[in-house]
Amino acid sequence: MPMTASAASIWAATAAPAPDTPPLTGAARCDVLVVGAGFTGLTAALRLAEGGASVVVLDAVAPGFGASGRNGGQVIPGLKYDPDTLDTLFGEATTDFVGKAADQVFTLIEKYAIACEARRSGWIQASVKTSHLPAIEKRMGQWAKRGAPVQWLDAPAMARAIGSEGFAGGWIDRRAGALHPLNYALGLARAALAAGVRVHGESPVTRLARNGTQWQASTANGATVAAQMVLLATNGYTDRLWPGLRATMVPASSFQVATAPLPPEMLARILPDGPVVSDTRRIGNYFRIGPGNRLMMGGRGTFREPTGPGDYHRIIGALHHFFPQTRDMTLDFHWTGRVAMTPDHLPHVHKPAPSLIAALGYNGRGVAMASALGTAIGAHLLDATSPLPLTVSPIRPMPVHDLHPLYASAAISWYRLQDALER
Ligand SMILES: Cc1cc2nc3c(=O)[nH]c(=O)nc-3n(C[C@H](O)[C@H](O)[C@H](O)COP(=O)(O)OP(=O)(O)OC[C@H]3O[C@@H](n4cnc5c(N)ncnc54)[C@H](O)[C@@H]3O)c2cc1C
Repeated sequence: MPMTASAASIWAATAAPAPDTPPLTGAARCDVLVVGAGFTGLTAALRLAEGGASVVVLDAVAPGFGASGRNGGQVIPGLKYDPDTLDTLFGEATTDFVGKAADQVFTLIEKYAIACEARRSGWIQASVKTSHLPAIEKRMGQWAKRGAPVQWLDAPAMARAIGSEGFAGGWIDRRAGALHPLNYALGLARAALAAGVRVHGESPVTRLARNGTQWQASTANGATVAAQMVLLATNGYTDRLWPGLRATMVPASSFQVATAPLPPEMLARILPDGPVVSDTRRIGNYFRIGPGNRLMMGGRGTFREPTGPGDYHRIIGALHHFFPQTRDMTLDFHWTGRVAMTPDHLPHVHKPAPSLIAALGYNGRGVAMASALGTAIGAHLLDATSPLPLTVSPIRPMPVHDLHPLYASAAISWYRLQDALER
């Protein structure tokens, strides 16, 4: 199987031209400073600007540089917990909020006419393990009870929907869909700019301090921002800007590959109705058809940044296992990005100081959730009586966090062993 040397993502190679977001220079003032121009930061900025706030967004590199421009483009509502559990943990309003997270994405796309190949073709949660089927049938039933358009797929229905014999069953959630994540992020940035937000790339924030009633931020290139409020929206790319925040999550690499364009006979069989798919194993895979009719396969890689094509062998193995007909195909793209994993598998909202809020930890489910949470945070910063959908929690750094590559690798090996032992 030949593999090209391209470590650029399929999204970067097929993106629309980026809007102009030059580095910040001089001294700026605003109501709200947003650090990080991914889905969280950009949707919050957009909501804030629409509510009349003056907003500056700073990104260390560029809008969509982080996970938002690299992900699988799977727009999935819900969190990794069942809706009944979410009711118990947070209350029904939160369950309703996460259940509508995908709606929010498609509404934003329509409202701002963002060209990002959005399609509402459903998400299939598929299982290779018969032992997982009762749990996901229960989850599906709980969403069905709440009126979600969901349907059970037995093994033959799954084989038809996916074009692979590898799955024992699962369900399809038609609230979900697919998009081109980098074009979605760039479209949000363009909408934010049009609403008056000042968006700057190549402006890493290196210092943040309270100065009287204001926040004072400085960038690596010497620019400054004085702001009434600050949102930290740096997720898996969180650095040491705010004490302890980085150690609340483990930045895990998620790897993806994309084949050369599928020939028509394969395209007719593989995911013919265009759903996105992820499987239920602890260290599972996710896949879809992407730009140029390429089959994309993703999954957990190493806990360090990959050093070459060899690091992608597990993902390529999964691609060939589920779709053996792709064995001789060239892989046109391979790339990676950082997912923020939290110990409880939930996103966290923190308010560690006055007028400072941080949101991170989507655990690989942030396309819909970061967009919905960012919008809710924007509304909350405009009006403190607008509720946040998640409980605000204190920053709890993980002990010996700097050793995370070691213990995370050990955890992954343990999960892989459990996956292998299950029926
Ligand atoms: C490979 C991959 C596949 C995924 N697939 C899916 C999927 O299919 N479906 C799904 O729902 N979720 C998926 N996710 C998760 C999803 O992409 C993320 O949850 C979501 O994009 C998080 O958005 P964010 O805005 O919070 O963070 P990010 O998009 O990561 O943005 C953080 C930004 O902060 C900036 N930054 C960091 N520090 C500073 C600083 N000091 N100063 C200025 N800027 C700073 C970074 O440059 C970065 O641009 C995937 C993630 C990855 C990596």
